[in-house]
Amino acid sequence: MPIYDYKCRKCAHRFEQIVKLNETPDCPACGAANPERLFPFSASVSTGKTRERSLAAEHGKARAVKKEKDHAHSEYLRNHIKDHS
Ligand SMILES: [Zn+2]
Repeated sequence: MPIYDYKCRKCAHRFEQIVKLNETPDCPACGAANPERLFPFSASVSTGKTRERSLAAEHGKARAVKKEKDHAHSEYLRNHIKDHS
């Protein structure tokens, strides 16, 4: 379940709340309904992005290594064929 940041429209109280789908909590300070949801540029979001990026980097590295291996293999084949012809 996602945790959202809310700001009360009435008393400007800010709070975090774990929210079920399509549920909006009431302000815990004054009880006003329909607080403003603040879009999080929070640590968890940027960490997720960073993880994605490093994962992509890992994939890129793996691909580069495979390419090198393929190259080495074809080089080996070329030398092998040359030696025996
Ligand atoms: Zn409030």
